[in-house]
Amino acid sequence: MTDGDCIFCQIVRGELGTEFVGESENAVAFRDVQPQAPVHLLVVPRQHVPALRDLGWEGGSVATELLELAVDLARQEGLHEGGYRLVINDGPDAGQTVFHLHVHVLGGKKLHEPLG
Ligand code: 5GP
Ligand code: ZN
Repeated sequence: MTDGDCIFCQIVRGELGTEFVGESENAVAFRDVQPQAPVHLLVVPRQHVPALRDLGWEGGSVATELLELAVDLARQEGLHEGGYRLVINDGPDAGQTVFHLHVHVLGGKKLHEPLG
């Protein structure tokens, strides 16, 4: 897959008209099209990275930035007090379906989904 075919790269470039709920230098966030909770955001790097395990050590600052934006937006969405769940599916066995790294931010209800 090239960046041109990647749906999240298209979203990052603004080609699909998806509204951003948050942005930082190297990351953007938008609402999941099929929300699994009252709040379901996706935080993604602007740069195409297929999966977490492709980040490498030099990607540490990108990972930190994704988490910072996720936590800031969780607070902005009113999830700070009740709590929320961050999920990264890293590869097919984990259920990753879009191969552009993303952090799910889920909250706004008591979450019951099993982790494994
Ligand atoms: P994964 O299963 O790869 O961890 O999660 C991919 C997520 O991306 C799914 O929750 C799916 O609903 C979401 N998604 C897939 N295509 C689009 C899209 O075009 N726009 C948005 N906003 N979310 C998408
Ligand atoms: Zn991409």
